[in-house]
Amino acid sequence: MRMVLLGPPGAGKGTHAKRLANDLGLVHISTGDILRDNVKKQTPLGKEANNYMDSGLLVPDDLMAKMLDQRLNEPCVNKGFILDGYPRNLSQAKTLDDALGKRNMEIELVIYLDTSEPVIIQRLSGRLVCSSCGANFHITNMPPKQKGICDNCGAKLYQRNDDKEETVRRRLEVYRRETAPIIKYYEAKGKFYSLSSDGQVETVLNNIKQFVKGHNDSFKV
Ligand code: AMP
Repeated sequence: MRMVLLGPPGAGKGTHAKRLANDLGLVHISTGDILRDNVKKQTPLGKEANNYMDSGLLVPDDLMAKMLDQRLNEPCVNKGFILDGYPRNLSQAKTLDDALGKRNMEIELVIYLDTSEPVIIQRLSGRLVCSSCGANFHITNMPPKQKGICDNCGAKLYQRNDDKEETVRRRLEVYRRETAPIIKYYEAKGKFYSLSSDGQVETVLNNIKQFVKGHNDSFKV
């Protein structure tokens, strides 16, 4: 199974992709997580990407294409994957098709997490991220057991720079302009399905899981 989780910032792509990948035995590919890891380690890619990320802009396509290629070369990807955060524009959607085509693979399913604007703002303004393992929490929706501390690894939680109000607004604009047009691209390929992501985490996750399992025969989850 090779699938893409699409949706605006705050739709819950990261949260659901991590859990789904774990439950379905797939690899989670989050371009945002890879970039944040590079920023933390101050790699050349991290240094180049940092300003774009902090301003809520997209990192240039050529850098992202190289990153994708490297990730797809990892052998574990052969067992199937969930892409979270890629593609983010039409050119990246085509790059993805080409990169997979070279490996005799293709995207089988695209799930769009449909989320209303008030929910997006509420989620992003309260989101907390683990500084070590990258796990996501939320001040009220998904609070950690101990304030400011990651349940999984005990490291400190922080607010992402790009979750500040001004940057969130920019990210939403970028999403509408650059990313939303991908919907038509995948609709035309007959691979696009939209599910509501406004509810509680467990409810939405179960809906996605049921939906994916409903494709069991054709997609061999
Ligand atoms: P995310 O964690 O997916 O919200 O991504 C955080 C930030 O990383 C985005 O706002 C972009 O600056 C950058 N980023 C992640 N994925 C991509 C991508 N596919 N193309 C360009 N920039 C990306």
